[in-house]
Amino acid sequence: MKFHHFIPTEVFFGERALDEDGEIVGILGKRAFIITGRSSSKNGSLNDVLNLLNRMKIEHDVSHDMEENPSFSLVVRITDKVKRFKPDFLIGIGGGSVLDSMKAVAVLSVNDIDPIDLYDQGRYSKALPMVAIPTTAGTGSEVTEYSVLTNDETRMKGGFKSNLIFPRYSFLDPRYTLTMSMELTIATGLDALSHSVESILSTRSSEMSEIFALRANELIFQNLPKVLKNPDDLECRSKMLFASMLAGMAIAQTGTTIIHALGYPLSTFKNLKHGLANSVLMIPTLRRIEKSHPNRVVKAITPMKDVDDFEIFLKDMLSNLNLRMNLKREEMEEWARIGSKAKHLKSTPGDFGYEEILNIYEEMMKEYGEGDKR
Ligand code: NAP
Ligand code: ZN
Repeated sequence: MKFHHFIPTEVFFGERALDEDGEIVGILGKRAFIITGRSSSKNGSLNDVLNLLNRMKIEHDVSHDMEENPSFSLVVRITDKVKRFKPDFLIGIGGGSVLDSMKAVAVLSVNDIDPIDLYDQGRYSKALPMVAIPTTAGTGSEVTEYSVLTNDETRMKGGFKSNLIFPRYSFLDPRYTLTMSMELTIATGLDALSHSVESILSTRSSEMSEIFALRANELIFQNLPKVLKNPDDLECRSKMLFASMLAGMAIAQTGTTIIHALGYPLSTFKNLKHGLANSVLMIPTLRRIEKSHPNRVVKAITPMKDVDDFEIFLKDMLSNLNLRMNLKREEMEEWARIGSKAKHLKSTPGDFGYEEILNIYEEMMKEYGEGDKR
């Protein structure tokens, strides 16, 4: 047996976690800069943070400047505000887009570099301490060393990785996720599922990472359908938030696979939510990996019996949304060319060249292309 495990984030999980344990952030200093979007004003999370900071007399400022698939230019704009305010630490309240932006800003505000340099770990050596407060149950970004940004010029998404960007503290309160729409609940729940499945698939998976991923699989298969039936069921929301954190802990060790890499252009060019992009690519990719690594695939989708059962589950979840895509042949060819050079291929079992990847996009379009069945 062999593994390496490193997650330096201190996690506080449960209803009213901030009220009960939030004062620990006082260790980080007397000035905090909050990075958030718009929804945190509606789900109680921003209010809880502001109450905490006021109670502790921590000076603060807030930026609500946010976008899905956060771009280089967005993180530069927020960094400018942060540099002016000179905080001791950052607090991110929101989904993966907020948390990933915060991680980039934490590095950019204390190193004299451009966003593109974030991809070269040798270019920086420090980051502001961070507090992560997720309001979606999907990315697990609150416990990972990854941040996914979009290059404004190429419109391509890419993740950077550094141990410096693990948040110092994470507060996970399932009440904040109650306001998620059905589409967001499905997209984020399936993102978490793609993390746990891909983590087990990964050639870097270990007995240690599998503990997190297998439990996440189980919780998501059980609770995502329940949450869709009863969106106000806090117990099920709590299980989904827990599962997404566990899946995050799994990919913090293993990374994701080619499924994530191939999904990125569907988000930036076709506006498909990140978790949905992964979901539509999952079955054709699993079927290909199954040809050379059948046992690994069976393990990755445990407790589902086989890929057919897994497909039924995914289709059932996605049938709540009317997913249709319009993709030109040239787009698929271009993305297949880019995908065939993705660093994710190193940890994806099986052989994936240009032809195989193009075929995955083609298979996906048979199911979700405009004018096709459904
Ligand atoms: P998101 O892009 O952060 O948020 C999607 C939308 O949901 C936004 O409009 C957001 O609004 C809103 N929202 C957030 N919380 C809400 C709530 N409780 N109620 C209602 N609306 C809410 O979605 P996400 O799926 O969490 O994050 C996706 C991003 O994370 C992608 O860019 C993906 O590449 C990245 N990702 C990162 C990792 C990692 O390890 N770092 C892993 C997987 C994915 P506001 O922003 O205005 O509040
Ligand atoms: Zn993801």
